[in-house]
Amino acid sequence: MNRRLEGSGMTSRRTRERMIARIREQGVRNQAVLDVMLKTPRHIFVEEAFASRAYEDMPLPIGFNQTISQPYIVARMTELLLEKGPRAKVLEVGTGSGYQTAVLCQLTKLVYSVERIYPLQQRARRCLQDLQLRNVRLKHSDGNWGWEDYAPYDGILVTAAPAETPQALLEQLAPGGVLVMPVGDGRDQILQRITRTESSFEVEELEPVIFVPLLGGLVDRSA
Ligand code: SAH
Repeated sequence: MNRRLEGSGMTSRRTRERMIARIREQGVRNQAVLDVMLKTPRHIFVEEAFASRAYEDMPLPIGFNQTISQPYIVARMTELLLEKGPRAKVLEVGTGSGYQTAVLCQLTKLVYSVERIYPLQQRARRCLQDLQLRNVRLKHSDGNWGWEDYAPYDGILVTAAPAETPQALLEQLAPGGVLVMPVGDGRDQILQRITRTESSFEVEELEPVIFVPLLGGLVDRSA
């Protein structure tokens, strides 16, 4: 791995180890998730000015009024997604920095990820390329509509909060598939896991969370 990816000082493996220890203390037990987060250089996904804070347990700005999710929530959502068995094909809504995408790539066979802000998507694409993660397809589009071309998905993970679960995402879930997403308005959001059974949807409400809102429409190339 080259020096930038490897990190040093506040971006070193040692710092990542402390981050993993904190996530474990907060209750995340899935060792595969923790192992992947230990080896993924989160600092390349944040703006350079914030690199030294990349492993603190907080969201950080990534531009365009968006944030990279805090390490704990990335770990927790990924654990919830994988808890009921492996997921071959996963859709992510809200690529953002691409960090959650990178974690998913290392734990599932195929990842599809959509983002409405084009410049963020481009930056994420470069980071994923730098890490040589190739089992991923990115699309500049509004995730309220899912990504129909590759549906159904064994798992869907949404990293921005809608007021209500978008119908398209439920429809694009395979039987047995799980959808992990924050739902709610403003500061009143709850993390949900919805499992599609043969005939219906089972909803679990897990914990209060704070995400940026799931918005409609696109921010284009010239932004
Ligand atoms: N997983 C990302 C989270 C970024 S924040 C990370 O850890 O970096 C949520 C992202 O969802 C933002 O980049 C935002 O632009 C995007 N988003 C919001 N509404 C969206 C929509 N309707 N379709 C696609 N992406 C959306």
